[in-house]
Amino acid sequence: MSIKYVFITGGVVSSLGKGLTSASIGHLLECRGVKIAMLKLDPYLNVDPGTMNPFQHGEVYVTDDGAETDLDLGHYYRFTHSPLTKASNATTGQIYDTVIKKERKGDYLGKTVQVIPHVTDEIKARILACAAQEKDTQVVLVEIGGTVGDIESLPFLEAIRQFRYERPSDCINIHLTYVPFLKAAGEVKTKPTQHSVQALREIGIVPDMILCRCEDPLGADLKAKISLFCNVREEAVIDEKDVEHSIYEVPTDLHRQGLDEMVCKMLGLKTGPADLSRWERMLQSVLHPKGKVTIGVVGKYMDHQDAYKSVYEALRHGAIAAGVDLEIRRFESDRIVENGSVEAAIKGCDGYLVPGGFGERGWEGKVLTAKYCRTKGIPYFGLCLGMQVMIVEFARNVLGLKKAHSTEVDPNTPDPVISMLSEQKQIQNLGGTMRLGAYPCELKPDTLAFKAYGKKIIWERHRHRYEFNNHYKTAFEEKGMFFAGTLEKGTLCEISEVAGHPWMLGVQYHPEFKSKPLEPHPLFRDFIQSIILYKRSDTWAASPRLTTA
Ligand code: GLN
Repeated sequence: MSIKYVFITGGVVSSLGKGLTSASIGHLLECRGVKIAMLKLDPYLNVDPGTMNPFQHGEVYVTDDGAETDLDLGHYYRFTHSPLTKASNATTGQIYDTVIKKERKGDYLGKTVQVIPHVTDEIKARILACAAQEKDTQVVLVEIGGTVGDIESLPFLEAIRQFRYERPSDCINIHLTYVPFLKAAGEVKTKPTQHSVQALREIGIVPDMILCRCEDPLGADLKAKISLFCNVREEAVIDEKDVEHSIYEVPTDLHRQGLDEMVCKMLGLKTGPADLSRWERMLQSVLHPKGKVTIGVVGKYMDHQDAYKSVYEALRHGAIAAGVDLEIRRFESDRIVENGSVEAAIKGCDGYLVPGGFGERGWEGKVLTAKYCRTKGIPYFGLCLGMQVMIVEFARNVLGLKKAHSTEVDPNTPDPVISMLSEQKQIQNLGGTMRLGAYPCELKPDTLAFKAYGKKIIWERHRHRYEFNNHYKTAFEEKGMFFAGTLEKGTLCEISEVAGHPWMLGVQYHPEFKSKPLEPHPLFRDFIQSIILYKRSDTWAASPRLTTA
């Protein structure tokens, strides 16, 4: 049987949750036993989002093979088992880069190089490359970034029009749109949806299904209206109302309206019924938590919903594993310093997490957070930069190296406890040149890390240029900070822990990229679990602290 393709476009406004919706559709197909692959096409000119400010773009999601990709791939990871590699995300920048390189090589044999067919051919080639990643893929879900009507997404829409024209019985189009409730009129409005479908039809794409983002379920009359104006069957107009408690409700809401059955029917895919039992059990523990944990996240982009997307989700997974509710309090690290008292600025949480980051802004507030947690015995979890600040704080306040720093912030520090990776020193371009992707790490027995993972060798994903300076290793170990994990057969320190502290752990990698609601990451699970143990016992003495190496 030929491979089938589901194209997902978005209309009216951005931020409708197209990534989440695409991931949910992927999840439902997997629940029916279908093998899927997912692809995100992004219309911007950056080759990848790696060089973009998180305020602009949100989180950069890193794959095992070291691609810096759109954060929607994080949704794909959390909801599905799609392969996620360099072939899973393509931008206009990448497409043009390839076309221009081919032109310079002379591959176009004297032709005028044009958007149609050369750019659209390259887009179609990316779709086929995604499909070809694994040999038994049955359905490829292709999410087109941006909003229909944008100038920059036109080549992508044209490419998927051609793709379907070439494979009429193997493709469907799903359009995600917004159906707003106008307070002043007291009415739900379908006109923006009609217009965005009109814009699609001008290009030659007629959607097979319309998903309507709305506050409350749409009544039959509104669905009939959308159906009539948009040329889509009434049963294929589906609500996607705002979720009440958790984004993990989206797949079950869509399933209840028959979405997956309809998609399979439209594509001529024969499958058994969807088995959502594991997902539903997980949802039950989200909806009926026993107890609550409050985590303070101390970072730089706290007003931006998506800047630490995978971190917030991984914390939720840890809470799901423990069956508790999670409150995340976000603290701007700058303000901790302005406030003058770290305690006044951030107190009141059960544990603190310092996520990854770049540059000088916010450094000292994070160092103060690490000190607060270390000296008060409060659980601390540092990710990438969060490990580096934990090390700098320890150097300054325990080793007495008052001016210790990372050379990223102070290139002239007398004690560069964090310094540039040697392989990074020759690098000139900033895009795609960090230490990226999955590396092995060997764990020491009798450490919090080993206890969490339960094995000696782990693989985790990296995205950094700086690392712990091994010159200081013995001095740190003598004073009680030890390194629970190092690069296999190598010397890079990937995990730091503090002897005698209940749970203070930093990792030079990004465990948040490898956590799923059904498979919570062991470190996030244990971070939350350690807090619960702490809250139950009056003192940490009662908690099962391991002796340190
Ligand atoms: N800026 C630090 C480095 O490059 C940390 C990077 C990160 O947190 N991802 O090493």
